[in-house]
Amino acid sequence: MMRTVALTIDIEPDCPPYLRTYRGIESGLPALLEVLEKYDVKATFFITGDVALKYPQEVAKIARRYEIGCHGYSHMRFDRMTFEEAADEIEKSTAVLRRLAGRVVSFRAPNLIFPERFLGLLKDNGYLIDSSLAKYKVGHLYRIHAGGKDDLNNGLLRIPVSATSSLLRLPLGNGILRRLDSPVILFFHPWEFVDMSGEPVRWDCKINTGSRALARLESLIGFFKNSNYRFCTLSDFLRL
Ligand SMILES: [Zn+2]
Repeated sequence: MMRTVALTIDIEPDCPPYLRTYRGIESGLPALLEVLEKYDVKATFFITGDVALKYPQEVAKIARRYEIGCHGYSHMRFDRMTFEEAADEIEKSTAVLRRLAGRVVSFRAPNLIFPERFLGLLKDNGYLIDSSLAKYKVGHLYRIHAGGKDDLNNGLLRIPVSATSSLLRLPLGNGILRRLDSPVILFFHPWEFVDMSGEPVRWDCKINTGSRALARLESLIGFFKNSNYRFCTLSDFLRL
């Protein structure tokens, strides 16, 4: 079977919760889109409703070429919300994104934390895919051990991410990529392609940001192309 890789990008304020700036969208995103176009690869962009309202033209532009998914409204953590607050976040962001981008069927919660009690809200709002799980988190391993299925759960296709977003910026070669099972789901943020070294953020949000991260992205795309992986959007997996 052909091995597959999905590049996914979460669009939100810079390095939350530390900053409320949008340099990632203003200068990281154009650089990122240029690389994706240069290599002609597919990608899925998870966008918050708040960003979509502030940057509607950027969202419409991305939607012409890539899949758009929902990343909540305010980038607040869902595990700190009541059921009503979670419903409101999902309904509001979904309405904004569908107005700008048309079909939106993939969801990813901020911080990859989405309580199971809210899964029904995704179905109620027409979502087919949830990508809020992470293969490297203890909670996910526990779920699988307890008999939770990776793929279909509550009528949703659950697609866990394969590695932390800082994979792009850690001083590692491409050898580590060979160890990830297919489908490989990677994620990163536009602010990682902006130099964050002078910002008051956590150390792991600063290292190798900016042009280094962009060069790493090119190298990583080259690795998957040379290894004959097929690039997919998350909604492609509904058909695979
Ligand atoms: Zn996020």
